[in-house]
Amino acid sequence: MTYPDIYRADDNRYNTMPYHRSGSTGLKLPAITLGLWHNFGDDRPLDTQREILRAAFDRGVTHFDLANNYGPPQGSAEENFGRIMAKDFAPYRDEMIISSKAGWYMQDGPYGFGGSRKYLVASCDASLHRMGLDYVDIFYHHRPDPDTPIEETVAALDFLVRSGRALYVGVSSYSPELTRRAQAIARELGTPLTIHQPSYSMFNRWIEDELLDTCANEGMGIIAFSALAQGLLTDRYLDGVPADSRLGAHKMSSDFLGEDTLAAIRALNEIALRRGQSLAQMAISWVLRRPEITSALIGASSVKQLEDNLGALEAAPFSDEELAEIDKWAIDRGINQWKGATESV
Ligand code: NDP
Repeated sequence: MTYPDIYRADDNRYNTMPYHRSGSTGLKLPAITLGLWHNFGDDRPLDTQREILRAAFDRGVTHFDLANNYGPPQGSAEENFGRIMAKDFAPYRDEMIISSKAGWYMQDGPYGFGGSRKYLVASCDASLHRMGLDYVDIFYHHRPDPDTPIEETVAALDFLVRSGRALYVGVSSYSPELTRRAQAIARELGTPLTIHQPSYSMFNRWIEDELLDTCANEGMGIIAFSALAQGLLTDRYLDGVPADSRLGAHKMSSDFLGEDTLAAIRALNEIALRRGQSLAQMAISWVLRRPEITSALIGASSVKQLEDNLGALEAAPFSDEELAEIDKWAIDRGINQWKGATESV
């Protein structure tokens, strides 16, 4: 398939995608958001990246989630997005929600990791430069930092908004307790946190204990990342490990696909087929069943995967029996690689 040089977004792009308000704020996000952690670095053809981004926007995916360190190499996902942005999406900037983050390791030296004002402000400027943007719609502190006072980090987020670099701010992988503290400070400064970005899927249910309630009480939306458990909750691994998959390419721990987990994937796949869905679609529908969830944040390495995932929007609601059957298999399976960051403060 060849793609026209000049992109014109599909006129029907707003016909099927639901948009949810992020907590009690005015910001609406699509039920499904596309993330650029993997699949958008310099190791992937720019044409494929362009196809995926165009297909997403054509289906009402208005939100694209990035971070300073996405690649490889770090920063290249933002650069590639910036190229495609300039060529394809510039006329549509006002219809897009583009996010970036800083907090995880970006560069050596004292200012390339953590939650200091120095790192967050410099990194936001660098992200804007790479993407060729005047502002991001959402800027996140990417992970808790035990070495920086939370007051400093939240004040830096407030500054990013006041200086016009970001419209909204949020946090990622914060515990319920730290979320409450951060939101109290943010409110006092006059820039409440709009959104929390935690990991959440059928194999990683930590946010159900307390964080869902915390965010609802604090007026924050939740965008659930790795809703497909990095591809485990799809048909990708049903018949072995493909060489071009995230697991096959050693971009995810091989410990994540033990025998019990594979048995659970197979059982869940059967339930999905009975519902007339693919497993990926059921995994997304399942994340979105909770009213606290604003958006399911997924990745896709091809247009085919993206389209499969968007099919989740056509799903029938779950019956109590189906949810009970899913619960037998949807248990924590040791795949939350962000747990250490959450518990570090
Ligand atoms: P997913 O759990 O959605 O996994 C995406 C991967 O699953 C794809 O790259 C692909 O893997 C596979 N896949 C997707 N759809 C299908 C399908 N229909 N059929 C078969 N395989 C499929 O999400 P990610 O882990 O990629 O994370 C999503 C986004 O969340 C990131 O891009 C990022 O924006 C955000 N994120 C945020 C973090 C944070 O700390 N705040 C941490 C991690 C992610 P394959 O390559 O094998 O084809």
